[in-house]
Amino acid sequence: MTSQAQRVCSTASQNSAQLSQPSLQLSSSNNNVPAEQVITIPVVVHVVYNLAVENISDEQIISQIEALNADFSKTNSDFNKVPSVFAKYAASSNIRFELAKTNPMGQTTSGIIRKKTTRMMWTDDDKIKYEANGGSTTWDAKAYLNVWVCNTVPGLTGYATFPGGQQAVDGIVVRYDAFGTKGRLMLPFNKGRTLTHEVGHWLGLKHLWGDQTCGEDGIDDTPKQRAGNIGDPVFPRTTPCNTSPEGEMFMNFMDFTNDASMGMFTEGQKQVMRNQFSVSGSRNTILKSRGLSEAWNNNVELNVMPVNTRDLVVYPNPVNRSTSTIRLLVNTPINANGKHFAIISSNGQIVKMGHIQEMQQDIDVQNLTPGMYSIRLTDSESNSYTKFVKN
Ligand SMILES: [Zn+2]
Repeated sequence: MTSQAQRVCSTASQNSAQLSQPSLQLSSSNNNVPAEQVITIPVVVHVVYNLAVENISDEQIISQIEALNADFSKTNSDFNKVPSVFAKYAASSNIRFELAKTNPMGQTTSGIIRKKTTRMMWTDDDKIKYEANGGSTTWDAKAYLNVWVCNTVPGLTGYATFPGGQQAVDGIVVRYDAFGTKGRLMLPFNKGRTLTHEVGHWLGLKHLWGDQTCGEDGIDDTPKQRAGNIGDPVFPRTTPCNTSPEGEMFMNFMDFTNDASMGMFTEGQKQVMRNQFSVSGSRNTILKSRGLSEAWNNNVELNVMPVNTRDLVVYPNPVNRSTSTIRLLVNTPINANGKHFAIISSNGQIVKMGHIQEMQQDIDVQNLTPGMYSIRLTDSESNSYTKFVKN
């Protein structure tokens, strides 16, 4: 490790295929959330650790949420360092972040999951998002921002998924020592900006240079840029690509500069991010999340609930080892919010959670080890529960 470490976000290469599909392009600006409406996003932080040092403290996690809220509301204490020629474009997004209070099953949570793993390092292959790989299973991505904190391979600071991708892997991965503003942090990533940058991607923003030499990000008020700026550039930073007196906007959160050199999103970036929450936007369902509501299921004991085979049937049962999916047949009405399911192992651990919207739905069980499982289906009105065996 050197003090000259530079930011490496692999989001673009990961997701360029997705972004090129028209259906994943920016949402229409119709039916937008009114600008004055604060959007609050429930966050679940999965701390997946091998060494004790990677099991970061609650205090460090809370410091990250605070930094995120400051950056997204233009109340970051270093905003005064933004040159005035750029500060006039800076925006408060009116988007907030809070650790989840209720999990997808309706039970009280701290919004922090801690999971010890035997795996020492993680790449950007999304394996960390699956219990079966020693990772931690994604919570319903329609209702939560999932953030995994772990030891990434050297050089990788973090990566995110863009809106409109696969639900099972939706979310953000960040290195444990580039997360938050308190604790053992790796300079120059000590101001929580790795997550700010990745949330920008998660809400549809590209790098300012669009990952092309002399490229752009499709947003009017961010200037053209030659490539990712690194380190702590001196203002004005002009390049052959941008010879204007003010030069490149290297203090934008979507550049690659050090945490201490970043400080703003623009008004145009704010619009792209908020558009994700419009009626037709990919993040619209977050507005209906119950992740910050009162828990509604604390009193239900998982193992004393009656087996109701009329409401919920699993097929086939038993499940053969070579079978990769089970089919859930649901006989209770499914309302617009859908239902949450949890698969619980015989020792009471939730091994898989998800969200269903259909009366018949296939669930991947390939990664479950052989044994007896209960499966539970929940919405605000009912609980269904049954068992199945994997051979
Ligand atoms: Zn990035």
